[in-house]
Amino acid sequence: MAFVIEYECPQCGAPAEMEETHHLFRCPFCDVKSLLFTDDCFRYVLPAKISGKDMMYAPYVRFKGAAYLCRDAAIEHRIIDMTRCASALDGLPVSLGFRPQAMKMKFMTSDRGGRILKRMMTVEGALDAVGSVTSTLMARKFYHRAYIGETFSIIYLPLYREKNRLFDAVTNEPLIPVQKSDDCMTDIVDEMPQWRLTFLATVCPDCGYDLHGERDSVVLTCPNCFRAWNASKGKLSEVAFKIVPGGRKKTVFLPFWKISAGSDQGLVIRSYAEFIRTTNQPKVVKNQWEEWGMSFWTPAFKVRPHIFLHLSKQMTVSQENFTMTEDVPSAPLYPVTLPLSEACQSLKLILADSIMNKKNLFPTLPQVAFTIGESMLVYLPFNDMGHEIIQEHKPTGIHKKTLEFGRYL
Ligand SMILES: [Zn+2]
Ligand SMILES: [Zn+2]
Repeated sequence: MAFVIEYECPQCGAPAEMEETHHLFRCPFCDVKSLLFTDDCFRYVLPAKISGKDMMYAPYVRFKGAAYLCRDAAIEHRIIDMTRCASALDGLPVSLGFRPQAMKMKFMTSDRGGRILKRMMTVEGALDAVGSVTSTLMARKFYHRAYIGETFSIIYLPLYREKNRLFDAVTNEPLIPVQKSDDCMTDIVDEMPQWRLTFLATVCPDCGYDLHGERDSVVLTCPNCFRAWNASKGKLSEVAFKIVPGGRKKTVFLPFWKISAGSDQGLVIRSYAEFIRTTNQPKVVKNQWEEWGMSFWTPAFKVRPHIFLHLSKQMTVSQENFTMTEDVPSAPLYPVTLPLSEACQSLKLILADSIMNKKNLFPTLPQVAFTIGESMLVYLPFNDMGHEIIQEHKPTGIHKKTLEFGRYL
């Protein structure tokens, strides 16, 4: 479930709300569209029910995303949605439970005042915590683990002190006994860190036209000069993209990442022919495949783990030689909601899923290391067939509800 964050329009100051997975917003009052960025991760604060107190804030790391684990002869996956206390102070709730979903949060900017409890958990530590959750939910021994499309953020729980006790400022419940003097806290308390949000105008860097995108888009397109811009890393950088022509009456173009990559270790895969032989596909290798560099395909949109793997494997194994153009398509483009950097983390999973003899080859997965080459966004036409949309060139279908659900991941 997504969190809701209240904030103010950077242009006109009007109150607005957005969901955790949204980065682009259009102000309903001044109609200005902007993109939201931060240097590291987003920081939010839960609303305090009390005012006029010296506030202290306890950090919680927040992780939401798909975890994949290769073990024995299968790939297990799970959607993880958790918060973990990152302060060293004993007696704080281990997790925030459902609280962030039940109330609207605000951005934790440095002008808020008060002090924070030091964050003892690094990003790596948080991933270990996620790992221990996935390991207990899944197998302990595994050959490869990956997190795809995850959101990592910090949520602060407001606390205040009254007499000899720290109170939870959201519920007003007493939490931890503390000594009268402040000395006991100095080791674990910090000044409010300098953290700010950056808003960027959604203007095409090339022609100045207003860029197209949806609230959860990580790539924006220019309807004027027809270029695509990656908006996931604090600035707009151009993304190479192509269109596979097609389109009947009701068509939508779904985006996929095509990533050139090869491995020289563990399993040697430098060409498409080597990929087919190594994974032991029931296909006769054609001579020209020896010359084809290996490309992996993944959806460029968030979708449930088993669909993500299924689509990636199907397109990677078949390595369709699509005719591609740079012409403006006649039908709408589905938003790109999975950044390329996340797609690149899925290569070993796609390989693992494609391997026919998993039991024999999975033990080599830890040694496999891909060198990533060029990448490209490719839009493929899918035709509306009622409940499903079907790819025009291959019998690949996606349920419309599946796409819809993916927007909330
Ligand atoms: Zn505004
Ligand atoms: Zn432009």
